[in-house]
Amino acid sequence: MSNATAVDAADAKMDEFNPFQAMAKRFEVASDHLGLEPGVRDVLRTPDRELTVAIPVEMDDGSIRVFKGYRVQHNFLRGPCKGGIRFAPNVHLDEVRALAAWMTWKCSVVDVPFGGGKGGVICNPIELSTGELERITRRYTASILDILGPDRDVPAPDMNTNEQTMAWIMDTYSMHQRRTSTAVVTGKPLNLGGSRGRREATGRGVMISCREALKTMGLQPNETGVVVQGSGNVGGIGALLLHREGHRILSISDMYGAIYNEKGLDMPAVLAWLKDKGRLEGYPEADHLTSAEQLALECDVLIPAATENQIHSENVDQVKAKLIIEGANGPTTALADKVLEDRGVMVVPDILANAGGVTVSYFEWVQDRMGYFWTEEIVNSRLEQIMVGAFSEVYAKSKEHGVSMRTGAYIQAIERVVTVYRMRGIFA
Ligand code: GLU
Repeated sequence: MSNATAVDAADAKMDEFNPFQAMAKRFEVASDHLGLEPGVRDVLRTPDRELTVAIPVEMDDGSIRVFKGYRVQHNFLRGPCKGGIRFAPNVHLDEVRALAAWMTWKCSVVDVPFGGGKGGVICNPIELSTGELERITRRYTASILDILGPDRDVPAPDMNTNEQTMAWIMDTYSMHQRRTSTAVVTGKPLNLGGSRGRREATGRGVMISCREALKTMGLQPNETGVVVQGSGNVGGIGALLLHREGHRILSISDMYGAIYNEKGLDMPAVLAWLKDKGRLEGYPEADHLTSAEQLALECDVLIPAATENQIHSENVDQVKAKLIIEGANGPTTALADKVLEDRGVMVVPDILANAGGVTVSYFEWVQDRMGYFWTEEIVNSRLEQIMVGAFSEVYAKSKEHGVSMRTGAYIQAIERVVTVYRMRGIFA
């Protein structure tokens, strides 16, 4: 292992690819800076509630399969739990736990009044029909219904779930409540209580984070070449918005591989191709690379916007970017953090960089509760204000404590949750 020498004994014992351990590691570092007492650390680290459910579903061919689903509520001190639901074959409980905790810190970093939660169903959406997906979604929702609600826990889209999934959740919840309740879930279709600007919000937040980070480095958009891993809701939209701002998008990838053009990709054309063909492969005006080759490209900015554990101890030495904007949750392992920090690479961490999504989810929840909907300009300008403010607070924290942006973000997030914890106390 190339960077083993940089790893201390405690790190060596941890499983680099376990997201919950990765979260706990960052939490510990920030808690040390804050001088938090052990009991309070325990309270904040431990998920409040974990629900595992069996989801029996009749498949299209008449057979019956039982899927497994989770909903983890990490912390509700600052408000109802908030966080997405993902459908993927490799979902596991420690991953959902980590994602739930990251939601607690993310909501706190941008100061939206939510705690953190996350859900997941172990299934492979590519192999499932729309009807099967609907039945899985509805039965999963029914099974976790007791812990959901606009004041309890408010899900949203995540990997492989979308506006349609959210509409099914909203309908299932509403039918059980015997009244229409739109604020139980966010990321809904526009005509069903969705918010303008929600679909683009995570990508927009990534673009804003990138712009703010480049300002601190004295770089202009037209001077920067950007590599984006992932072309879904975060990577695809993030790349499009950065392209519009004048950045050169050198490369973008999907689950099959990457495309590269050193002069810069025509992002609207790339996304039109992807929409039409379902994959980037065959896109004409570019070279084709493997995912590993893509991460090693010469570039100024790297945006991992696909999934966890993409930059790790084995490949971090190949990463050439000066700036990393984490569009995905947990794309960098804790061991890789250390190497990047030593090399002076600026990493805008997930809990800040991809917080645009949950910020506009908060706006959606507010609008649903008011029954009054905002224009896209209002949504975008409020998002801008929150993201720019959060970036500068985290930047200031990182300077104040002489730490990375990641540790600065955790310090900021934990401080806010601890303040509320000390006010509320322990209910007994
Ligand atoms: N799944 C998204 C995230 O990881 C959005 C969560 C939300 O809007 O509640 O931040």
